[in-house]
Amino acid sequence: MGVDPIPRVSDTSFFIIFTDLDGTLLDHTTYRWKEAIPALDTCKRRKVPVVLVSSKTRAEMDLLRRSMSLTDPFISENGGGIFFPRETFGIPPPQAIAAPAQEGQKTLRDKGLWQWSLGLPYGDMVKGLQGLREELGWHARGFSDMSIEEISAFTGLDKESTRLATMREFDEPFVILDPQIPDMERLSEVAAKRGLKVTLGGRFYHLQGKNDKGKAMEKILTWYSGKHGRITSIALGDSPNDFPMLERADFPVLVRSGQEFRGLKEKIPGLKVTRQMGPKGWNTAVLEALNGRDEERTHD
Ligand SMILES: [Mg+2]
Repeated sequence: MGVDPIPRVSDTSFFIIFTDLDGTLLDHTTYRWKEAIPALDTCKRRKVPVVLVSSKTRAEMDLLRRSMSLTDPFISENGGGIFFPRETFGIPPPQAIAAPAQEGQKTLRDKGLWQWSLGLPYGDMVKGLQGLREELGWHARGFSDMSIEEISAFTGLDKESTRLATMREFDEPFVILDPQIPDMERLSEVAAKRGLKVTLGGRFYHLQGKNDKGKAMEKILTWYSGKHGRITSIALGDSPNDFPMLERADFPVLVRSGQEFRGLKEKIPGLKVTRQMGPKGWNTAVLEALNGRDEERTHD
């Protein structure tokens, strides 16, 4: 723990971390986060909320955040839903509803979640994908077209984790099998005509409403700043669907992946790109942002 200085009493800024999961906090292939534990522990000790922001479902994320012993809000399905653990938030945030129970989730002995919905219903996405396919004449397959085995072959997740991944509420992940190099502009146009949006994650395209990770982050920031005043945000991600989040952050971090994003540093001033991939890169970047900020503040 030698890298982590004791927080200063004079440090009045309230940090919040917004982080993508796959390829960022979680290893792209193994889905593990062991290398990020030192920074995660630092966040817990300093009471820095770690808000998980993913294209994963509520069911997947609720399980994951418990495995990480996180009690902070989380953002599911590319900004479609924001969930607040009721164990932490006894009183619901304004306009929040009690998240409806989901099938197969009764075994969790918890108080449940409060929910804000920013996305459109999943049924609209399934219909939307059908419309896109018909108009473009492309061979695209969404989660709603695939068996558990087929999804599992794409993700490498086991059967139970895949089942949780199919419990979708706001966003339809899909693959395009033909054409091999799809015209993204055309795809976006056809989606926009239907009031929808296509984004690119680490493995899949995603069909969603006008919601995105950045807008959901904004909602949480506004809500927290009502209680804590000025907030310093750190956002970490590895894919284009994370960029709206990085654009809004005080400390934007691109966690290195196999992909190159030309011109991103010009588009997002102050962007830091990690040297290491996944949770290793995450760990270093978070500790640097938290400690670096402390260092700066000693000169106030
Ligand atoms: Mg990712």
